[in-house]
Amino acid sequence: MMRKLRFLLALWLGKCARLALRVLKRNATYFPGVVALKICPDFLGQVGKPENIIAVTGTNGKTTVSNLIADVLTDRGHKVLSNRLGSNVAAGIATTLLSGSSLSGKARYKTAVLEIDERSSKRIYPYLKPKLLVITNLFRDSIMRNAHPEYIASFIEQAVPRETKLVLNADDLISSRIAPENERVYFAVDRMDTDVVECVNLINDLQICPICSGELVYDYRRYHHIGRARCRDCDFKSPEPDYLGTDVDTAAMTMTVTDKQGGRAVYPLLSDSVFNIYNVVTVAAALHEFGLSHEEIAGSLRRTKIVETRYNARQAGNVRVVMQMSKDKNALAGSRAFDYISQLPGEKEIILMMNCMEDQKKWSENTTWLYDCDFEFLAREGITRIVCTGPRAKDYYLRLLIAGVPEEKLRCTMSELDAPDLLAYNPGESVCLFYGTDALDLVYKVQAKIIRCAEEAAAK
Ligand SMILES: [Zn+2]
Repeated sequence: MMRKLRFLLALWLGKCARLALRVLKRNATYFPGVVALKICPDFLGQVGKPENIIAVTGTNGKTTVSNLIADVLTDRGHKVLSNRLGSNVAAGIATTLLSGSSLSGKARYKTAVLEIDERSSKRIYPYLKPKLLVITNLFRDSIMRNAHPEYIASFIEQAVPRETKLVLNADDLISSRIAPENERVYFAVDRMDTDVVECVNLINDLQICPICSGELVYDYRRYHHIGRARCRDCDFKSPEPDYLGTDVDTAAMTMTVTDKQGGRAVYPLLSDSVFNIYNVVTVAAALHEFGLSHEEIAGSLRRTKIVETRYNARQAGNVRVVMQMSKDKNALAGSRAFDYISQLPGEKEIILMMNCMEDQKKWSENTTWLYDCDFEFLAREGITRIVCTGPRAKDYYLRLLIAGVPEEKLRCTMSELDAPDLLAYNPGESVCLFYGTDALDLVYKVQAKIIRCAEEAAAK
């Protein structure tokens, strides 16, 4: 009885906190959950949960994948509860569930799609018992918070309920080995023209066989440890995919996904980056396992637009202004973004302003990630100038010199708003702004100034 009363008190106070914050137009996606969990530590266990929960985790792509899954389900007529605008740790999940439940604590939704932070696994999965858990991949993330990927894999493995079915990346030998007892399906992307055999990246987190420590041989490698590998000394190898993406056509922006039962369909690509190709095959696998047909998934995806904040381009004066989000303090996201932008056609000028913060006092992270990140891709031909800016300007400058970028191509200013003045705005080129999410207001000011400078340069 006491337990029930305590839960109801937590629920109602959480709901009140959410209402109050919304009236005040404040962020109401985290604090109500903090209140609920403080009053009732097993709040997640007691609150009503939708019958079908799809959880999505992993180092990269979890936000896009969970948004796409929720979009497709909504397009198919499902009423979906999700944390897309909110937090992905325990308090955020508690807020989402309390907002989706009645005053007596019963779930008002049948389906939920929840993005979940890897490190919060233990506090969430045992209560949630998701029907499906999608793991996009596991890479080295911010080293101060996430140590190394095997450590994060062990977090998830210890927490995932036995009855949860896993949707795993067969091309990732770290995350695909999680919880071998659980029912599972694998997805993969077939060999691509851009694949290599030797690792060209600084980060390569799986260099030896995890079973016998023998030598791993890659049939092909996409980037870092992603690819198809086998051990030379034992029978360890990448699992066979149940869902395979083939015939990737970046001109037509399509890909074929085939499943083991012989089903297949042409899927739209939402962007030509390798990450996004994986995102589509991941969504296809998860939703097919959920019970949708390929035609239904592909049809709904065609009506969906990817969130535009991570990459967008527009013409200004005689140049193309490209905005490229690069997750803060994440070496791997930086490497992927540098690789992608450096291969865009034509000449490019670049401003680096990741890791800028409105409040410098909160800054704590060290700079080791810079030396895990492939700044070497920015030494490629076609990049004519790089402006380093923000509190890390000098760190970027040094790192680019080490990466082999000639000094005459580099400029440096601590003031972000001065950075656009240091570009040449040569007609026909792209001007690319790399930014993180820690100081978006400042990012938009710099973007506006780039556009103004480009228009002025064109008018001269
Ligand atoms: Zn081996």
